[in-house]
Amino acid sequence: MIVLPNPALGPMVNAVAAACRICRLVQKNLVAAGRLSKGDKSPVTIADYASQAVVAEVLARTFPGIALVAEEDSSLLRQPENLKLREAVTQIVRVEWEGVEEDSVLEAIDHGRGEPSPSDLFFALDPIDGTKGFLRGEQYAVALALLEDGRPVAGVLGCPNLPAPGTGSGCLFLAVQGRGAYTLPLGTVPSAIAPVLVSEVTKTRDIRFCESVEGAHSHKDRSKLIAEALAVAAPPVSVDSQCKYGLVARGDAELYLRVPRDTKYREKIWDHAAGVLILEEAGGKVTDLDGHPLDFSRGRELTVNRGIVASNGRVHPEVLSAIRRTE
Ligand code: AMP
Ligand code: MG
Repeated sequence: MIVLPNPALGPMVNAVAAACRICRLVQKNLVAAGRLSKGDKSPVTIADYASQAVVAEVLARTFPGIALVAEEDSSLLRQPENLKLREAVTQIVRVEWEGVEEDSVLEAIDHGRGEPSPSDLFFALDPIDGTKGFLRGEQYAVALALLEDGRPVAGVLGCPNLPAPGTGSGCLFLAVQGRGAYTLPLGTVPSAIAPVLVSEVTKTRDIRFCESVEGAHSHKDRSKLIAEALAVAAPPVSVDSQCKYGLVARGDAELYLRVPRDTKYREKIWDHAAGVLILEEAGGKVTDLDGHPLDFSRGRELTVNRGIVASNGRVHPEVLSAIRRTE
């Protein structure tokens, strides 16, 4: 039995696991209804709100004094024409939160309207990271981090479609600053928890690298040039969401590159905080394309960082040098 090294971790894990069960249920119904990839955004909207509601409820109840900065709020749901959507969200939330009324669901969602603070503790939540992957029936993640003094100090990543080794079901990653990273299969008892460690690959030609599925989120021509400069032999693997951080953390890949296509776009803190801590605690390294550490103290966005380089640490200097050479 592993003693949880941060009091926030237990409730964070429970909240993310509950949100994962909800997302799975919605995705399963989506498959059954044959609605995958048909451009109908309502299922992902329902799952997004429901996921945020269950996580926010646990955090508001357990840590009422800690702000939650989450991607969604209830303003759209409260519009009269969205009655059906609101009812669907409440119904799915009831799977985890028995008998809850609509008003309490909306209130829980709006608990996520907290403000990030550069010095105080706050939570950052992406209720469904990789919504496009969710809609395609592929990878997505529920990502929750606790930040303090502008640094993630605890992180939980639920990956319902990322097989846990040897089980075929989804998995969950968790990390606490200075205490390592762990993984467990989703839907099992905590005794199945195992440490997560990056791979020992040092030669750049052996790098397995992953990037976004969506070409709009990462400049694939640029990452191809970088991989060529490193003489990487294997083709890149395309994966949605922060599952990419999990893959590098557990040694299934050595590199996750995110090269901005739109120079004005700034990365959101909830798209990286949990994944970054999990990878760093597994022995990896994360910087932006210029080699600077990610600065989570600037509000909702990583305003002073450009792109993401997440690696097993061992290949990091060569990757940064290849980025400079191909600029
Ligand atoms: P991924 O699945 O790794 O492609 O990342 C999904 C995340 O990309 C979403 O949660 C969005 O917040 C984020 N995103 C949206 N637009 C952009 C963009 N233009 N560049 C980079 N990331 C984006
Ligand atoms: Mg996201």
